[in-house]
Amino acid sequence: MEREAYLYEKLENNEVRCLTCQRRCVVSEGKTGWCYTRRNKGGKLYSLIYGEVSSLSINPIEKKPVFHFYPGSR
Ligand code: SF4
Repeated sequence: MEREAYLYEKLENNEVRCLTCQRRCVVSEGKTGWCYTRRNKGGKLYSLIYGEVSSLSINPIEKKPVFHFYPGSR
């Protein structure tokens, strides 16, 4: 899903600076940032992955706050 990003600032010449991560990409109109998940459309920055899962990992259950739920499982 596409949605206007929360973390960015507008610059001159319809460019924007994304503030989502430490790269602080300056994105020209019609272009995407380094990660390809943010695009400048008409001087506004849009997230192209809003609502999508961005990472997934399997961990031992003992790391979670459900320590006694199913010991030894993942
Ligand atoms: S466009 Fe992507 S890589 Fe660039 S600052 Fe934003 S989140 Fe980071």
